[in-house]
Amino acid sequence: MSDCLFCNMASGEMAVPKIFEDDQVFAIRDINPRAPVHTLVIPKTHIPTVRDLDASHGPLLASIFTAATAVAETEGINESGYRLAFNCGDDAGQTVYHIHLHVLGGHKLGHEG
Ligand code: 5GP
Ligand code: ZN
Repeated sequence: MSDCLFCNMASGEMAVPKIFEDDQVFAIRDINPRAPVHTLVIPKTHIPTVRDLDASHGPLLASIFTAATAVAETEGINESGYRLAFNCGDDAGQTVYHIHLHVLGGHKLGHEG
């Protein structure tokens, strides 16, 4: 989808430093970080929201969470702790309709919600 920001990053059409990449996913630092460490793990395939996931996405979800673990290690927050979050829809503040896992840490995080 050429009008999708994260598809354009996945394809290389939009250049962005990738801090992790494998055949299924990549990770970038958030342009507007809300914590000292704020990265996004993004599947290369276009899925608009987590509502669109089904059982066939099991291997992809495993890759997303495995990438998040690797990112937490390389960003230095594996031991101190971190939060993983998917925003879904307007009330959660989803702004990019291509799923992505936020990896947040580097200080004490506030409560969810
Ligand atoms: P959402 O609000 O959809 O859960 O998360 C989208 C995230 O993408 C936001 O945290 C936003 O700051 C980030 N973002 C939007 N555009 C860009 C961009 O061009 N580059 C990077 N690195 N992050 C972006
Ligand atoms: Zn997309």
